[in-house]
Amino acid sequence: MLVGVPKEIKNHEYRVGLTPAGVRELVTHGHRVFAEKGCGGGIGIDDDQYHGAGAEIVDTAAEVYSRAELIIKVKEPQPDECRQLRQGQILFTYLHLAPDPQQTELLVASGVTAIAYETVTDRRGGLPLLAPMSEVAGRMSIQAGAHCLEKAQGGSGVLLGGVPGVERANVVVIGGGMVGLNAARMAVGLGADVTILDKNLARLTAIDEQFGERIKTVFSTTESIERLVQAADLVVGAVLVPGAAAPKLVTRAMLAQMRKGSVLVDVAIDQGGCFETSRPTTHADPTYVVDGIVHYCVANMPGAVARTSTFALTNATLPYVLALANHGVQALTRDSCFLEGLNVHRGKLTNQPVCEALGYDF
Ligand code: NAD
Repeated sequence: MLVGVPKEIKNHEYRVGLTPAGVRELVTHGHRVFAEKGCGGGIGIDDDQYHGAGAEIVDTAAEVYSRAELIIKVKEPQPDECRQLRQGQILFTYLHLAPDPQQTELLVASGVTAIAYETVTDRRGGLPLLAPMSEVAGRMSIQAGAHCLEKAQGGSGVLLGGVPGVERANVVVIGGGMVGLNAARMAVGLGADVTILDKNLARLTAIDEQFGERIKTVFSTTESIERLVQAADLVVGAVLVPGAAAPKLVTRAMLAQMRKGSVLVDVAIDQGGCFETSRPTTHADPTYVVDGIVHYCVANMPGAVARTSTFALTNATLPYVLALANHGVQALTRDSCFLEGLNVHRGKLTNQPVCEALGYDF
């Protein structure tokens, strides 16, 4: 199959859909890969590395779109990109169509077969192509929180691990899923005192078995959140209620009980945030202060570590990319979990929740 890798054009997007290692796998399986000049430049992978792996470097995105049968990207196609797609072509990328009627209309009109990373499932009902970004965001949340705790950032001036003779910081992680577990792992690694809250007892049991006394686990209720947040230096919001906006678990009234300069990092901000006082921020201006508490609410945290994020994402996507290259759309009919990723096919919207969100017939 002819596989294309365009350079991402969305503002501040540096990730790339395929690494040279992925190119090599595809070429070894008998496929041809067209990589747009400079597609990996933002994360320090140059054209020579793509070429060395077997890719053909093309000068423009237009060449990628006109020649490739399978397009591998990271972000949803921008309007100009959508207009270059056509029937018979497969697009594999993050789409997030539910809040995006314009992109949906353009993809439907193009006739393309569009498969969304975020709706591919695995046998346990997990989302294997979202998980790597949750790992990255979870680990970053502690890095970001530690930075925000510094005085120059408006923080209380607390070092997460303390030093001998000085208490370690108190880190409270609300939600013990992929983000929360990775946040906790980093916080423990830095020597902080870590508590995870979750409503799912099986999750808490698994965390307890994995970390023993290094992490405290607490069942999540309004009472336990209120009590633990009061004493926290850093609170990480990492809850997810699938298909729903995040519940507001930390209220503005609770902030008044916290020490000034303590920090809230709301990773769940992409679902509306789990703190009452959260609003989305950007990497350019990541924080703001409410009632003396520093808030960090960046909606696309993995974008800041684009190189790590690219490798994490492409490790997860590569087996699916290979299946598509080897079998075309038949790869979807062979694997019902992969089929869940199909969002648009030959002029029809094919994902039920997306249809419901946008008022299309399913
Ligand atoms: P997950 O499903 O793995 O984990 C969510 C956890 O929240 C589950 O264990 C669930 O039981 C728990 N939970 C639900 N309600 C709760 C409550 N009331 N109290 C305590 N725990 C509760 O999800 P995840 O992959 O960890 O993602 C968490 C959030 O982070 C999602 O909203 C995701 O979209 C978001 N996210 C944001 C970024 C970013 O850049 N900001 C990046 C990746 C993921």
